[in-house]
Amino acid sequence: MKKFSVMALILALVFVIAACGKNNDNGSSGDDGGGTSKGTIGIAMPTKSSERWVKDGDNMVKEFQKLGYKSDLQYGEDVIENQVSQIENMITKGVKLLVVAAIDGESLTDVLQKAADAKIPVIAYDRLIKKTEHVSYYATFDNFKVGVLQASYIEDKLGLKDGKGPFNVELFAGSPDDNNAYFFFDGAMSVLKPYIDSGKLVVKSGQTKFDQVATLRWDGGVAQSRMDNLLSANYADANVDAVLSPYDGITIGILSSLKGVGYGSADKPLPVTSGQDAELASVKSILAGEQTSTIFKDTRELAKVAVKMADAVLTGGKPEINDEKTYNNGVKIVPSYLLVPISVDKENYKQVLVDSGYYTEDQLK
Ligand code: BGC
Repeated sequence: MKKFSVMALILALVFVIAACGKNNDNGSSGDDGGGTSKGTIGIAMPTKSSERWVKDGDNMVKEFQKLGYKSDLQYGEDVIENQVSQIENMITKGVKLLVVAAIDGESLTDVLQKAADAKIPVIAYDRLIKKTEHVSYYATFDNFKVGVLQASYIEDKLGLKDGKGPFNVELFAGSPDDNNAYFFFDGAMSVLKPYIDSGKLVVKSGQTKFDQVATLRWDGGVAQSRMDNLLSANYADANVDAVLSPYDGITIGILSSLKGVGYGSADKPLPVTSGQDAELASVKSILAGEQTSTIFKDTRELAKVAVKMADAVLTGGKPEINDEKTYNNGVKIVPSYLLVPISVDKENYKQVLVDSGYYTEDQLK
């Protein structure tokens, strides 16, 4: 009798241990502590070299965790092949859904076919994924508006609306493999082109076409070299008054080129510059009077939108969208949710960035 109950106890223990092991499936970031999980979400981000994507990734892991999902968060470090194989691995591991901010929006067609074959839905995060039908939704900002805001800042600061000018301006655009780059540039040119046409803005380099002004992979170093060349070829006896830049990291490159040839003094002030993402170093640069403006896109809100979309897709609900016409990816129009970008400078940084809790005043010192 005694022997029998010892055996029963051992058997029961074996069952308990086996059950525990089962619950403990391959957890990655966002492990909910071993409780019940709704499954793992694959999050593929482009690079850690820009702060914003780190925030995006971390915010999504947090938001997914709140809803009971685990996350597998990977960064491709701007190498297309890395991102493709990271997504392949996620598919093999059986993630429930993929959230992807593409490095190259046109290079995921094959891997997303594999996701579709495995019945894994895909949400495009901030950057449109093109040339595939296998993208269900798109969470982003009003990207045309980003460009309009960047250029309107320049228009304002130069007093173009009041008829001032002519001023010298040079133009930079983002990466040609990122659909957003075209929206930013088109938005900006919708404001600047009339002044270029009327001669109130002069582009001394003559480079006004997207292909001439694009910056592969949004690389600040590439922008710096281009600015070096523009300055030495066109500004020997003239100053540049404004530079359209699509992204903070590119503005950093442009500013160091300008400072290298003596801009930043009383008789040769730095030009009006734009940017995007309100990255910490660039907000500090704005406060120090170097960069002039940036565009704030609240990554906390974007993460929330994408996570809500994902949860709706996985639970059979209908994600909230507010745009069904703008983002044609070459195969279909991808239903989207667009958030609103905000222009930031020295005047309103406190209200926009500090009061909203995005940065503390201490971080900006
Ligand atoms: C994003 C921008 C970012 C840029 C470079 C774009 O796709 O929308 O916020 O500045 O990529 O990372």
